[in-house]
Amino acid sequence: MFRVSRPLVVSLLLLLAGCGSPPPAEPEWVSEADPDLVARGGTAQVEIEVDWFQQVPPDDLALEGLAVVAHRECPGKVITVRRDSEIPAARWKSSRGDAIEDVLEEFRGRSKPDPAIAYVHILYCPVNPWGGAAASNGLCRRLEKPFPHWQIFIFKGTLKSRAFLGLTADKLDRSCLVHEFGHALGLVAGPDHRFEDGGGHCTDTKCVMTKPKLQTILDNAAGAIATGEIPWDYCDRCRADLERARKMYARR
Ligand SMILES: [Zn+2]
Ligand SMILES: [Zn+2]
Repeated sequence: MFRVSRPLVVSLLLLLAGCGSPPPAEPEWVSEADPDLVARGGTAQVEIEVDWFQQVPPDDLALEGLAVVAHRECPGKVITVRRDSEIPAARWKSSRGDAIEDVLEEFRGRSKPDPAIAYVHILYCPVNPWGGAAASNGLCRRLEKPFPHWQIFIFKGTLKSRAFLGLTADKLDRSCLVHEFGHALGLVAGPDHRFEDGGGHCTDTKCVMTKPKLQTILDNAAGAIATGEIPWDYCDRCRADLERARKMYARR
């Protein structure tokens, strides 16, 4: 009779268990990435519509930078970045505070959900219509009405006021736009490089998702004086977080 020693059976069972079981579940934070934007499959298109008040048009450099990161971080999808409506300058006066919602309603090009399309609406305003002092270069919000989508605001007048020497308004525009789009993608969620205040910012001051705190501005201003450059792309750890989410969504 063929006899198998007990330790051998145990180790064979362990080996089989190791081969057959699914990989351990990913931590909760990995799912903060928006599958409609980052996952392969699902949506077929990322539609990005850009509207602006006449006095603060978007810069080409910013829209080109956005297209670069969208193509890379939303792989396998058709990416469209469409300049849409110029809103008369005079309209701004009556668009402060919650009245900005009426502008969104009127100029948003899409009013119904389409399961094949992830929709991002961008509105360039002179300054924060709510007048908030904090984080007033731009905002990214998930809106549920009239259908779930991302709403990004860029406060271009504020950015223009921060331009100096080689650090021109178009470069600030690009960094701000790519930063806000990063929030839509789901950055920053990885606990090893996320600020603990829950604001979704990166601890790497060379990452475009960095927290806009004084030290960071000073760090980058020193570089900017020398080179006229500030970060406008996601760091390796931010990109790795999105790739990890992409792999997890692919297994589902
Ligand atoms: Zn931010
Ligand atoms: Zn980062």
